Amino acid sequence: MKLVIIGNGIAGNQVAFDVRKKDKNAEIVILSAENVPEYDPCSLPYYLGGECRHADVFRRKPGDYAASSIDLVYDSQVLSIDPESKTVTTRTGENISYDTLVLAHGGDLFIPPIPGIDNQGVFSCKQLAETEKLAAHNGRSAVVIGSGAIGIEAAEALKRKGYAVYVIELMDWILPSLFDEATAGRLETELTGYGIHVFTKEKVIKIKGAGTVTAVVTNLRTIDCDTVVVATGVVPGTALARTAGIDTGRGIQVNRQLQTSVPDIYACGDCVETIDACTGETAMFQLKHNAIEQAQVVARNITGEPARYLGAYAFARAHFFSTHAATFGKTQRATDCILGDKRIIEREDGKNYLRVVLLNNQIVGGQAIGTFADGLGLLIGAMWRKDDIMEIAAKMRKTPKGGAVHSWPMLRLGNLLGF
Ligand SMILES: Cc1cc2nc3c(=O)[nH]c(=O)nc-3n(C[C@H](O)[C@H](O)[C@H](O)COP(=O)(O)OP(=O)(O)OC[C@H]3O[C@@H](n4cnc5c(N)ncnc54)[C@H](O)[C@@H]3O)c2cc1C
Repeated sequence: MKLVIIGNGIAGNQVAFDVRKKDKNAEIVILSAENVPEYDPCSLPYYLGGECRHADVFRRKPGDYAASSIDLVYDSQVLSIDPESKTVTTRTGENISYDTLVLAHGGDLFIPPIPGIDNQGVFSCKQLAETEKLAAHNGRSAVVIGSGAIGIEAAEALKRKGYAVYVIELMDWILPSLFDEATAGRLETELTGYGIHVFTKEKVIKIKGAGTVTAVVTNLRTIDCDTVVVATGVVPGTALARTAGIDTGRGIQVNRQLQTSVPDIYACGDCVETIDACTGETAMFQLKHNAIEQAQVVARNITGEPARYLGAYAFARAHFFSTHAATFGKTQRATDCILGDKRIIEREDGKNYLRVVLLNNQIVGGQAIGTFADGLGLLIGAMWRKDDIMEIAAKMRKTPKGGAVHSWPMLRLGNLLGF
């Protein structure tokens, strides 16, 4: 069997090395658009901010591939797939045949059409090569466009390097897809407390500079700067799949075995549209744990061990300086379009904050800052079990606290929610 994997990221490597463990004879080829062994994109902001060494971003060494008889081909961006002849064509014009193909090429940075975005001094932090350029840049004042997790982590890193940092967010609050306003407002206060300027509800109109960045102009102000970081989100790569006639939606569509609509082609990681493990809804959670689990399912199916993907789950954290926050499931805003009885449970203890989103008395999401984040596992358990939270609250209020009348998880859950 000749297995060709497109993408040398988290998902592609997991497939390659898992298949090799079970099949010593398969020919395994990874086609990589980059020219380095596997690295962890999550560590890039830490490398940028000097918190981890360049060598520590790598998850594998070049020799690991040869040692496992995996052929890693650098600078081989795949441009098209022909399922009839079972070949892929790379940017260098090479045609490579496959028996089984895995699409694991992740997502692309969304580049907004802002005039001046081509100026020198405009960077991103999604891939290693770009981050290396940003790390080597000797700037003093940076504007970060976008306040998602990558934007906030890049802002922290640049602040650590001594930059004056400005974050511009188009939406009403920072980290808008991960947190509700009440949680994000507290995180924004923390961020500004560390000296990072945050402007929400503001749109970048243009990047000024005749070749090199000199300022960013928003609808409300002009910020002089020598550095811009574009952190406006990651869009799943679907163009390549479409060259093969594979069904796509927001991402590449797959079944529970993670097969695409075209025979012998699987997909996993940030490029796929999958389902929410809790709700069964279509979902795009571009997170590392989901990429790894999907890749494990793909590898098992390829090696003849039937496996079914149970779905992705939204669990992310926001961490900067000494502030820790975590989020899972749906935000309150994400439930706006759903009918049903909606409630919010909030708890606050100094800088620690907990916000739990209930739909028909069941937990569908939660956000926490500080010590409350330690208890998120209990909430996620209750979400999976579909516990009736109001029933638990009523039981806990009726019967004396402690003792055998309360099961241990219910006692812990009740205490966390303040019942
Ligand atoms: C700065 C940053 C911080 C993050 N922090 C977190 C975090 O804290 N927690 C978390 O869970 N997730 C985090 N993520 C997301 C996480 O890194 C991704 O979910 C994960 O890397 C997805 O793995 P993947 O293999 O699908 O894609 P990737 O790891 O992106 O790998 C895809 C690979 O395919 C290559 N490629 C693309 N197109 C082609 C082509 N046509 N031909 C050949 N190769 C191609 C790319 O160059 C890349 O090497 C972060 C991401 C970034 C960028």
